[in-house]
Amino acid sequence: MARYIGSVCKLCRRESTKLFLKAERCYTDKCAIVRRSYPPGQHGQGRIKQSEYCVQLREKQKIRRLYGVLERQFRGYFEKAERMKGITGDNLLQLLERRLDNVVQRMGFAGSKKEARQLVRHGHMLVNGKKVNIPSFILKSGDVVELREKSRGITQVQQTLAAVEKRGFPSWLEIDKVQYRGKVLSLPPREECTLPTVKEQLVVELYSK
Ligand code: SF4
Repeated sequence: MARYIGSVCKLCRRESTKLFLKAERCYTDKCAIVRRSYPPGQHGQGRIKQSEYCVQLREKQKIRRLYGVLERQFRGYFEKAERMKGITGDNLLQLLERRLDNVVQRMGFAGSKKEARQLVRHGHMLVNGKKVNIPSFILKSGDVVELREKSRGITQVQQTLAAVEKRGFPSWLEIDKVQYRGKVLSLPPREECTLPTVKEQLVVELYSK
């Protein structure tokens, strides 16, 4: 599958917000948003007149980049969210939030989506006791995610877990740090999504044109 291999900090600067794509660095003064809080490129510091379409497009790109999903797959999530009961925007965020790579990151086993994807792709994660190596696997309420016993010695995982614990875990996940295990207690509430300030309604408007 194609993937973005350029500078991830440029993505944050383009969206003018922290997307937390670089683990611990995102929480320090080294963060590119702290140092240069304007869009990248020659005209980054110029004035940009934002049309309605531009605002909607930027919001869509922000959400897509936050979860590390490519356009086609994102469109697929939107279509799935539309078919579900309830508010399409909320359903869309809930689906993205329940991706295995996102849950692995939110449980503190990985500092960024990229690290989480790698843990999953390399077969370190188990879901309900079975190996799952698909980062886009959608978890449901009651699912148990754990780090394979052989992989529990990975220093990076231990350091990240300690750092994430200090910042706190979301209430819809129950973490057992000793067992390197976490349980999905419920569907993620809207206010506890990774970036609560995103305006998912703008994505719905964009795709409904
Ligand atoms: Fe974004 Fe993190 Fe880079 Fe800051 S350090 S710009 S939050 S990826």
